[in-house]
Amino acid sequence: MTDTFVIVGGGLAGAKAAETLREEGFAGRLVLIAAEDELPYERPPLSKGYLLGSAPREEAQVHPREFYGEHDIELLAGVAATAVDVVEHRLALADGRSVTYDRLLIATGAVPRRPPIPGIDLDGVHTLRTLADSDALRAAFQPGGSVAVIGAGWIGCEVAAAARTHGADVVLVERAATPLHAVLGPELGGWFGDLHAAHGVRVLTGVAVERIAGAGRVEAVRLGGGDTIECDAVVVGVGVAPDTTLAAAAGLQIDDGIVVDEHLRTSAPDVFAAGDVANAFHPYYGRHVRVEHWANALNQGPVAARSMLGRDEPYDRLPYFFTDQYDAGMEYTGLHDPHDTLILRGAPADAAFHALWLDAERRVTAGMHINQWDTIESVERLIRAGAPVDLERLADTDTELDALARAPS
Ligand code: FAD
Repeated sequence: MTDTFVIVGGGLAGAKAAETLREEGFAGRLVLIAAEDELPYERPPLSKGYLLGSAPREEAQVHPREFYGEHDIELLAGVAATAVDVVEHRLALADGRSVTYDRLLIATGAVPRRPPIPGIDLDGVHTLRTLADSDALRAAFQPGGSVAVIGAGWIGCEVAAAARTHGADVVLVERAATPLHAVLGPELGGWFGDLHAAHGVRVLTGVAVERIAGAGRVEAVRLGGGDTIECDAVVVGVGVAPDTTLAAAAGLQIDDGIVVDEHLRTSAPDVFAAGDVANAFHPYYGRHVRVEHWANALNQGPVAARSMLGRDEPYDRLPYFFTDQYDAGMEYTGLHDPHDTLILRGAPADAAFHALWLDAERRVTAGMHINQWDTIESVERLIRAGAPVDLERLADTDTELDALARAPS
């Protein structure tokens, strides 16, 4: 009898785990269960190249269709897993079938939050998570059309940029004082706000949406201060929640996602979790960290696969994130605290700079750049060096980042 390994979730984490299991020589039965009737795909293009119409659908796919047959991976696409019995090691599927597993990986990702705003169920109100959502937005973004984006986080900002690039009139509405306030703070959030304003987006901050109005179909968004924004499409981008439905019902330990150790093992024997849904113990930070980013799914999938094979290796990569908005490309790595000190290095006015955060001991906790490619590894080395840095040298573009990592002052 050969072993059966089952992966639930046909996103990046699930597909990379399947690939790794075969690469690492797993010769048993391998089943990949994907609720969406699609080949497993990556989501970043859905708010960028694919949404803009510049990248084909296939570019988002993790592997071409033939890959699954060639690697003897049973891809059950369009079928959700509905229940897990962790004692019997059995999964129930929506089509009535059941699958017994020896090892199970749960990589169910996240789902968009839907705040209780009156009118959110009207036609023309969108969220963005799936290829189908991106298709619907592409159809909605027309030159001369008007789009209200609620929430200026990463998705909201990218969608605003895409809608604007399609020629729509765009209003970006954010409750906080700036876009991206919670993740980047006021100074950098303000920089992104200015970027959008410079591209013709009306950026409204410090204002809450009271209701979405329309007779069957969206016609306007009413703001807390009494203002009304007329629009023919609304995109709600107020964050995601880890999709723990299956895991919670199975009795796994849940705390902001599925709780896993540094080997991505859940509280149930032979059950693992990876990607957006996993709240993993991070050896570098000494605490659990849940990361909702592409690189985390890309790299946790393979680590989970090796753990399933008993080749335990801890997952200790620093969080990493990228975004593209108009002509601004950005990468961020590390994890900063809102109280950390922010140092800018370079020329924000020219959209070419680094931002670095330091803790009270002047150690770099995180860093990002705008259009300073091939430098993010240097930022990572600076963080991992874990030594105090000189603030003036850090801000001075004549001092190489790597020199600071090598020679702490
Ligand atoms: P997902 O990609 O969410 O995949 C999980 C899959 O599991 C889904 O297809 C879901 O349908 C399926 N599933 C759930 N429950 C079940 C079930 N019971 N049975 C079967 N299947 C199930 N990150 C960046 O770092 N940079 C970016 O620029 C960036 N851009 C993004 C743009 C968009 C529009 C979105 C939505 C996300 C973006 N991200 C970005 C985040 C990144 O895409 C996610 O971190 C990544 O998709 C997580 O992968 P995952 O495999 O964990 O989960």
